[in-house]
Amino acid sequence: MPRTTPPRPVDITQEFPELAPLARTAVRLHPRPGQPAVSDSSVGGPLLWPRDEPWPGCPEHAGPWHLGYVPDEVRDSRRVLTAGWARAEGNSLTLTPQEREVVDRVGCTGRRIPQDGPIPLLAVVQLYARDLPAAEGAEGTERTVSGGLWPGPEDADLLQVLWCPFDHDEDCLPRVRLVWRRAAEVGTPLSTPPGPSVIGDDNYLPAPCVLHPEQVTEYPAPHELAEELAERVRDWEEPRDHLYQDALSVAPGWKLGGWGNWSFSDPWPMECPDCKGPVRPLLTVDSGEWDNERYWCPVEDEAAAAAPGVVHPQPQEPTQITIGRGYTMQVYSCERSFGHTPLQVMQ
Ligand SMILES: [Zn+2]
Ligand SMILES: [Zn+2]
Repeated sequence: MPRTTPPRPVDITQEFPELAPLARTAVRLHPRPGQPAVSDSSVGGPLLWPRDEPWPGCPEHAGPWHLGYVPDEVRDSRRVLTAGWARAEGNSLTLTPQEREVVDRVGCTGRRIPQDGPIPLLAVVQLYARDLPAAEGAEGTERTVSGGLWPGPEDADLLQVLWCPFDHDEDCLPRVRLVWRRAAEVGTPLSTPPGPSVIGDDNYLPAPCVLHPEQVTEYPAPHELAEELAERVRDWEEPRDHLYQDALSVAPGWKLGGWGNWSFSDPWPMECPDCKGPVRPLLTVDSGEWDNERYWCPVEDEAAAAAPGVVHPQPQEPTQITIGRGYTMQVYSCERSFGHTPLQVMQ
């Protein structure tokens, strides 16, 4: 089933024509629980990886042990909670003693778990260029090659994102690794990739999801507008329940491109960690796909989102990834070279 963002309640460029040139295309990925295969675009699914290419690891997280969680125990606990909430009445969850044991094994603080050598990275996103929608319109500043929506090098058609499932000191985010490839060159794929024995945060283990990419148009977050325009937008949205910020500017959820949402901090100048050159938004990893107002909830999900009662995971949290206290992680790529280290920002 495709996913369709409902029409915006207002065409903001009618109110503020000066926003029109600031329009950017984003591709909402709309991850939803599923069983993606190697040949599918996915979050938390298997990657098309050459059998003879070493699987990357994180040298900063090598053995002999780490404080954290066992991925399979996290999966078991999620399964038990999903089943428990599915049969729960109202807001009270009742687990059998065996189920309680499975959930408690994961615990809240983690425990010492042996790890032999650098932690193998976790597969987070796989995106085939063919699964992107065909570009529509030519609004604003298009930031893609070939005039299409593919955000990567012209000689690649597959993006793979992996991460080390531990907070890395400087930014308290899992450290990502981007791999751009040509799918046809993979040859024999790796059938069983190595996985980490321990993860530093159970919120960094993506639940397997299939994707439903959809093109949307975004405008800058209020923080990113020029002072004078920002003030006029603020005056306009003040009696309208922050309609610009919540419904008209930046889409929530996992996506490619677009604008940063700058939810809790002011924008700062950003540059490529390698060459100090300009960077552009590549990928946003979000803790939720829509917020309480559901302005961005796809029409296909509206009934489930509006239904009373508790389900696990909640419809707006299909990947079960949480960044910080429900924030987003934006990954920026260098405008000069796709080979440069991506910049990661919590917003
Ligand atoms: Zn690491
Ligand atoms: Zn660079």
